[in-house]
Amino acid sequence: MSNSDTTRVQSVAQSPEKVMNKLVSLAKRRGFIYPSSEIYGGLSSCFDYGPLGSEMKKNIKDLWWTTMTRGHSNIVGIDASIMMNPTVWEASGHVSSFNDPMIDDKTTKRRYRADHLIENHIEKLRRDGRDDDAHRVSTYYERASDSENQNKAFYDIIIAEEIKAPDTGSSDWTEVRQFNLMFQCNMGALADSSGTVYLRPETAQGIFVNFHNVRESNRMKVPFGIAQIGKAFRNEIVKGNFIFRMVEFEQMEMQYFVKPGTQEEAFETWRQKRFDWYTESLGISRDKLHWYRHDKLAHYADLAYDIKFAFPFGVEEIEGIHSRTDFDLKQHQEFSGKNMEYIDQVTNERYIPYVVETSAGCDRLFLALLCDAYTEDVIDGEERVMMRFSSAIAPVKAAVLPLMKKGEMGEKASQLHNDLAKKHLVQYDAAGSIGKRYRRQDEIGTPFCFTVDHETLDTDTVTVRYRDSAKQERLAIDRVQDFLQGNIV
Ligand code: ATP
Repeated sequence: MSNSDTTRVQSVAQSPEKVMNKLVSLAKRRGFIYPSSEIYGGLSSCFDYGPLGSEMKKNIKDLWWTTMTRGHSNIVGIDASIMMNPTVWEASGHVSSFNDPMIDDKTTKRRYRADHLIENHIEKLRRDGRDDDAHRVSTYYERASDSENQNKAFYDIIIAEEIKAPDTGSSDWTEVRQFNLMFQCNMGALADSSGTVYLRPETAQGIFVNFHNVRESNRMKVPFGIAQIGKAFRNEIVKGNFIFRMVEFEQMEMQYFVKPGTQEEAFETWRQKRFDWYTESLGISRDKLHWYRHDKLAHYADLAYDIKFAFPFGVEEIEGIHSRTDFDLKQHQEFSGKNMEYIDQVTNERYIPYVVETSAGCDRLFLALLCDAYTEDVIDGEERVMMRFSSAIAPVKAAVLPLMKKGEMGEKASQLHNDLAKKHLVQYDAAGSIGKRYRRQDEIGTPFCFTVDHETLDTDTVTVRYRDSAKQERLAIDRVQDFLQGNIV
């Protein structure tokens, strides 16, 4: 075993912009994420996942799906359509209330979320030790949020507090206006409002409308859950931060139907389970994760927490856990005229179940994992960039590297690669110095490299090199398959 001298350089010591720029460039260069339709200048907040990105995204989704469905005998999955009967969105409240309050700066023509400007202002007052002022503005803000004339109330706070645009310092404000986040399109031949359909802004409604279908077809008994992974669309006006806020993104949602009165207990259980998933299954360090309890609740919720991650640009939400009450099923009962009650076969009780929802963003989690994994070290005096992905989500699980391309060494390496590739994504790389090849694999987070060298020809062993420590040890070639299987968790 060779012991490499490794010094870890803390990437957190670098400025957030620098870290993000490095990540964006690595993601493109190595085929994780590209700007969408780049040859035409791209499209704001839209991105494409490349060969490694799509593999890693699939790994994240598979892990979530397995945890939720295989890990719970009372949770089943569905895959509902993106476009739904438009009345769904009237019932859910999205047509009337899925709005963001926007304000424009007349000089710079930039647009901002009015609520975010106020929230950030309150936070700044707190940071500056002006707790009384923070409390005063926070009270106004709460009142304004509940007021009939929310736009005017938000505007008045922004003017009275002399809140400025965070990026330009300008404050030549327009009035506040509500902006609906749903994308509308037309179905059928007529371009009038009779054909208006929406791209779903959340996957949850596909689950609610299928409550009875799933319950009946699978003989589910409350409490039970329905899980779904799928695209959602939001016409987000404030964009930025790479894939953090996109207009087309993927959600991983689970709605858990419970008997009224038991929702608090279910909420606590799911809150814990979801937090543990990030630390235990994905290996994200606990100190980068934070809880945030919502004071201002969405129209459907009676309790809501976010799991937030410490991104280089700030601590931001990656998953919401919401107690959605019986709001959605009741609304669908009213708008569809169909009974949404559940009848308990044992007690004959009838009720509309309450719902605890866990709603994670796949793309945001992808970004969190990129940020969490990014590491710069010095190994044996040479700098390297390494992605410390857990083996479960790393896109490439191993690389086979022959010291020489040709002859018996090349043949043995090809054979090993073909065997391993039957079960895992394994790369074969014979180009350049061995050091360069290790760096290439480190940069995409490949946990193991198997090197076929002169000794392989005599002893039928290869070296296995561990990404994080760069340590190497010898392993019999016929044990490599089992080694890999056992180490991909
Ligand atoms: P935010 O306050 O950041 O807009 P949200 O509270 O509206 O998020 P939810 O409606 O709770 O988000 O959606 C659940 C999850 O979906 C979020 O935790 C996030 O991970 C993801 N998500 C929501 N909007 C976007 C988006 N525009 N781009 C990428 N992911 C998103």
